[in-house]
Amino acid sequence: MYNTVKRKSFFSTSFIVSSKAKRGVGMKRFFLKLAVVLVFVLFFTSIAFAASSKAVLSSRSEKDFRSKQLRRMSVILSNLSELGFMNFDMRSVTKDVIPIELIQFGIWHNYFNNPKRYVSKCKIKNCKWGSYRIRGKYVTRSIKKYFGVNYSRLASASKSVPPYHFDGKFYHFNNVHREAVYFTRVNRAYKSRTGRIIALGEVYNADNRYRLGSFESVLKPQRFGGKRTWAVISMKTEYYK
Ligand SMILES: [Zn+2]
Repeated sequence: MYNTVKRKSFFSTSFIVSSKAKRGVGMKRFFLKLAVVLVFVLFFTSIAFAASSKAVLSSRSEKDFRSKQLRRMSVILSNLSELGFMNFDMRSVTKDVIPIELIQFGIWHNYFNNPKRYVSKCKIKNCKWGSYRIRGKYVTRSIKKYFGVNYSRLASASKSVPPYHFDGKFYHFNNVHREAVYFTRVNRAYKSRTGRIIALGEVYNADNRYRLGSFESVLKPQRFGGKRTWAVISMKTEYYK
């Protein structure tokens, strides 16, 4: 009796043990499978999440690019177009020893936007170079700000129409009657592989908002006055017929 019970119990326990062991193996397999499945699920969801968050990030940065940076580009290019600079290329402009177009821009930009602060009446009586003058350093600064070029060895632009005379400190010039003012609006901009920015948009007449044409401009990132901005490399406008 005792033996059988013991044996029974022995068998039963051994049975229990073995079934427990078997069940244990089954459980182990189950958990292993579950773990594998979980790892896969986690792996793919993380990939999907990363991809989606990346998509969200890129679309967000594109949105920012549209709202803020495109507006800033528009302001930069409007400073050119308001002076009639709608077709120019820095490669050809800076080919000459005296960059006439840059000097013109440097003088007229200040005359147009901040005459009280930077432009003064010429002190020379009946000055043959003009009744206005501007300090050369302001011309240099505007050229750097908009074109990223350090033009510090200033010179007269006598070939310019009208001419601009540099006396070693000031540029002398005459006022020129100005008519329509044009402004630009950048609609789209993207970064090229070389790090240049291609900006696309339209030129408008400020008076009646008439669209004059579409343009393509190349810009490059630069720092000016401790701020990140863009220097204009070229602007090419095709006028609408
Ligand atoms: Zn003068």
